[in-house]
Formats: sequence, structure tokens, C-alpha cells
Amino acid sequence: MAPVLGCIADDFTGATDLANMLVRGGLRTIQLLGVPKSDSHIPDVDAIVIALKSRTIEPEIAISQSLQSLEWLQKFGTQQFFFKYCSTFDSTDEGNIGPVTEALMKALDVDFTIACPAFPETGRTIFKGHLFVGDALLSDTHMNSHPLTPMTESNLVTVLNKQTTLNVGLVQYDKIEAGLEPLRNSFDALKKTGVSIAITDSITDNHLYTLGEAIADFKLITGGSGIAIGLPNNYQNANLVRLTKEASKLEPVTGLSLVLAGSCSDATLSQVEKFSKNNPSFKLDPVELDLRPAIIEEAIEWANLRMGQGPVLIYASAASNEVKSIQEKIGSERAGSLIENAMGSIAKALVDSGVRRLVVAGGETAGAVVGALGISSLQIGEQIDPGVPGTITVEDPKIALALKSGNFGEVDFFQKALDTMP
Ligand code: ADP
Repeated sequence: MAPVLGCIADDFTGATDLANMLVRGGLRTIQLLGVPKSDSHIPDVDAIVIALKSRTIEPEIAISQSLQSLEWLQKFGTQQFFFKYCSTFDSTDEGNIGPVTEALMKALDVDFTIACPAFPETGRTIFKGHLFVGDALLSDTHMNSHPLTPMTESNLVTVLNKQTTLNVGLVQYDKIEAGLEPLRNSFDALKKTGVSIAITDSITDNHLYTLGEAIADFKLITGGSGIAIGLPNNYQNANLVRLTKEASKLEPVTGLSLVLAGSCSDATLSQVEKFSKNNPSFKLDPVELDLRPAIIEEAIEWANLRMGQGPVLIYASAASNEVKSIQEKIGSERAGSLIENAMGSIAKALVDSGVRRLVVAGGETAGAVVGALGISSLQIGEQIDPGVPGTITVEDPKIALALKSGNFGEVDFFQKALDTMP
């Protein structure tokens, strides 16, 4: 059967988050990394999530990658498409939420869609068009000084209007609370006034379920992963899929275990500290690495000698004062790329030595590792901690992978991941 839902996400961990949500809803889901090649092999799945890295690139390139992805997805006869962005609506006046939405609408020949980043479970709610993070307006949170996508305006109608030539409107929560028919009528009323994209209020999961039902026939949906909670039932009601608790069941993978941590966020620092109490650990220092690249070989040899006895950890994670001093010595970009390249080379060598269970901490670090291993698709399994599922590679050799962005996961995440992954 053809996949019922084709998704295009504007970043990697956001894509995983959405895939995790779809699997929890009972859809067998695969995640692809980057614009798929025309001959990419796809197992039998209900949903496909393509992870782009298009959040902050030039709008023209984001549009082109999104359209190529759409075209690839359309080959399966998929009927519904989802453009996924961050639940804090990360974007600038130039884009890329507006330009990509507009381009996808044109390509799919649709005249109306919604934009709904709400995700009440994680504190992202929309009230009268204003996005809240917890109890604060978006513009009053740390997002107002984000280095790439500073969000200084909380009214999403205003934000999106700046990014698109289409008319943006609003469906307020009372219309959603009123139920399915009044909600559909509000969509129609907005369309009549020339609105093409509706920001939709959502304060509770119930709002998302009602919205999910109301957009069952929409060819294109845009939003955060929250809006996906209402979708799986639509496909089952239309007899397109049979939702299954088994969606997260993957073939078990056996082999040596490795944890790589390149994130310096607080959660990862605690996870490194906890895991290294019970397992051998090796620390990489960017300044030393700069002077003596042979440390990479030494780390590989060190791991090869120990992995037969149990999982090992190789990490570069350091507290903020240490990172600051490193960055003052060799610059933040150089420090970052030295570690990312080292992690990629180490992962490749140790997979060649038989590692088949791999946990990686850090968004950029995960990107570097997955790139070095040449992985282009992942099947999504059971959730380890919120937002982070266990996965396995579709291509051979089969590797069980847990890729988490720095701040995710409980303190025992590394062990839990190794225990939970297929
Ligand atoms: P997160 O998900 O926490 O943002 P990332 O992997 O995306 O983690 O980013 C962390 C960045 O910090 C990477 O570029 C990594 O190479 C770099 N890095 C890791 N350890 C150090 C360190 N000790 N000093 C400086 N930079 C580091």
C-alpha cells in the first residue's frame, strides 16, 4: 500500500520528533535524511518523513529542496503532505515557513491550508493567534535572542504575513471548541475573504484532535509535530491503514555498543557524568586534537580494546567555562569542526569493527556521524525519552541508532537508549 502521509521537515531533530509522533499514533514510519535519491529503497511503511536542513538557508534553496522532496513523495501516490517546522515557529522575515508553504501550495494546486505550530504537551499553545511557550509569550522567551531566528513577535498572523505574498488569517479557539462543522465553516468563511493560510489557535490536545479531523481532506498541512496527533485516525477511518501498536516494533540488532557525545548542553553533561561512572570513557579535547590529530587513532584503538566487554563512551562534552576557554584558543568554528570530524571518523572506524548499537548526543554531532556513516534512511521505533525514538538503518549494515539533540533525555538516557533500542 502507498504511504498515506508524506512529510517534509525543515530540520533533522524536528523530523525525528514528528516521526516519533506518527509511530506513537500507530503509523509505521521511515525517516529519510536529505532530498531522497530517485532510486532510494523504501520498505513498506505508512508515513515518510524527509529531514531537510532548510530552516535557515536561502529561501530559494529551501524551496527547491522542498519541491524536489515533494516530487519524490508524489511518486508513491501519497494523498496528504505535511510541511513540518518548529513549534516555536523559528523563521525570519525572509522565511522559510512562508516561502516554502507558498511553493508547496502552488505545486499541489491548493488554495487553502493551515499553519499550526501548537504542541500543548510541550507547552506551546496558540491563543488568539499569539504563540505561548509555557506561560510566556514567544517574544518574551529566550527565542527573542536566538542567533539565527530571533522571534521578537508573538502574533503569528503578523509573523507569517511578512514571509508570504498570500493572505494570512486566523481561526480562533472558540471556533475550534464549537466542533467540526463550525470549524469547517470558519475555514470556508476565511477562504471567501481571500485568506490562503490560517493560523489556528490550539490550547489543548482536544483542539488538535478536532483540527486533525477537520483537515482530513486537506492535501497540505503545515505545522509542528503536535498537529500530527489527530491525523492517524483519519487514515484508519478512511480505510487507508490499520493503525498498529506494532508500528514501533523493529527487527532486533546485535553487535557492539558505543556512545558518542559531542553536545555541551546541560542534559548531555549530566548524562556523560552518569554513564562514565559505570562504563569506560575517553575524552576528546579540541585543543589537543588540533595539535595532535593522531588522538583520533588512539581513541579508536582504545575503544577496540574495550568494546568486547561492554559499551564505551567517547565524548567531547565540556562545561561552559571549559568550552569558552577552548573557543578563545582555537575559535568556536574550528573547535566544532574538529570534534564533528573526529566523531565521524571514530564512528566509521568502530562500525567497521562491529559496532551495531550507537547512541549519539548533539544535533550537529549526530549529523556529522550519520553523514560519515553514509546513512540515508532510518526506520523509527519505540520512544526512549520524549522526542527521541530508537531507530534502525534501512540500509546494511543494520545499525540501531539513538540520535538526540543535546538537551533531550533524562540523566540515564545513554543506558536507557542501549536497553530500549531494538
Ligand atoms: P547540541 O544538540 O547540544 O546543540 P551539537 O552537537 O548540535 O549539540 O553542537 C555542539 C557543538 O559543540 C558541536 O559543533 C561540537 O563539535 C562542539 N563541541 C563539542 N565539544 C566541544 C568542546 N569541548 N569545545 C568546543 N566545542 C565543542
